[in-house]
Amino acid sequence: MPELPELEVMREGLTSQILGRPILQAQAYHPGILKTVDPPAEALVGRPFTRIDRRGKHLILSCGEDLHVVLHLMLAGRLVLSQSDTKITKATGFVFGFDDDEDLRVIENGTIRLVRLHIVGEPDDVDSIASLGIEPLSDAFTPEALTELLAGRRRQLKKALTDQKTIAGIGTAYADEILYAAKLSPIRYVSTLEPEEIDRLHRETRAVLGTAIAEIRARAGGALIGGHSRDFVRVYKKTGQPCPECGTPIAEIRYAQKKTYYCPTCQSSGKTLADRRTWLTK
Ligand SMILES: [Zn+2]
Repeated sequence: MPELPELEVMREGLTSQILGRPILQAQAYHPGILKTVDPPAEALVGRPFTRIDRRGKHLILSCGEDLHVVLHLMLAGRLVLSQSDTKITKATGFVFGFDDDEDLRVIENGTIRLVRLHIVGEPDDVDSIASLGIEPLSDAFTPEALTELLAGRRRQLKKALTDQKTIAGIGTAYADEILYAAKLSPIRYVSTLEPEEIDRLHRETRAVLGTAIAEIRARAGGALIGGHSRDFVRVYKKTGQPCPECGTPIAEIRYAQKKTYYCPTCQSSGKTLADRRTWLTK
C-alpha cells in the first residue's frame, strides 16, 4: 500500500502535470468506487484542478475552494495519465478527461476493489479525513506533541504509529523502518518510553519519511509513479537478511494480521519476539 512518502511524490507529480487543465469528463467505471452522490461527478466538468494536497494516505484534488475529489488508493490503486483514445480496460475505475485529449485514470487491477473516491464540498466531509491525526512532517509535530499523543495510552508502538487517528500517513512498512531507525521494539508499550526515547522516535519518524520521499522522488523523475520501488528500505520484508547495522538476521513476527520486521539485536536486546498469534493463545 502506498504510504505518506509515495503519496507525497504522487502529489508533486500531479501538481506539476494536471493543474489548470479544464476537465471535460468525470466518470466512474467501477460500480461503487464513487462513495458520494452530491455533488455529482458532472460538477467537475468545465472546471480545472487548482490544487493537489495530501492528508494521511489520501490525495485531495481540489477545483477551487468548494469542490474536492478525495481519493484513497488503498492497496493497489494507481494513477496514470493516458491518451483519451486509449481503450478503457477492466482495471479502469474512474476517468478524469481533460480538454487536451489526455485523461487522468484511476486504475485498480483484480476483483477485490478497495479504491474509494469522494466528491465533496469540504475535505472534512469525508469521515476518514476528519478523524485523521497529526501530520508527522508538519511543524505541529514536535517532541512535545508526540509525548502528548502517546501519554496515558496502553498501546504498543507499532499500533500507535500506524493508527491514522493518532499520526496520519504511516503504514506498516514505514512504521517498521522508523522503529528500526529509532532502535525501539515494535511491541514496546508506549507508556514505558523515556523522554529520550520519544525524542529519538520523533527525530527518526521525520528522518525516515524525509529520506523516503527524496529516494522515491529521485526514482520517479517527475513522472506519476507506477509501482512503488522501496529498494532503499532496511528491514521491511528483509527477513533473514543481515541487519545493516549489526549483521543479525532480520526477524519477523505476525502482528495485527500483518508482518512486522525488526532486528532482534538492535531493537529488542537480542531477544526474538514471540509471534503474537502464539502469545494470544497461551
Ligand atoms: Zn541490528
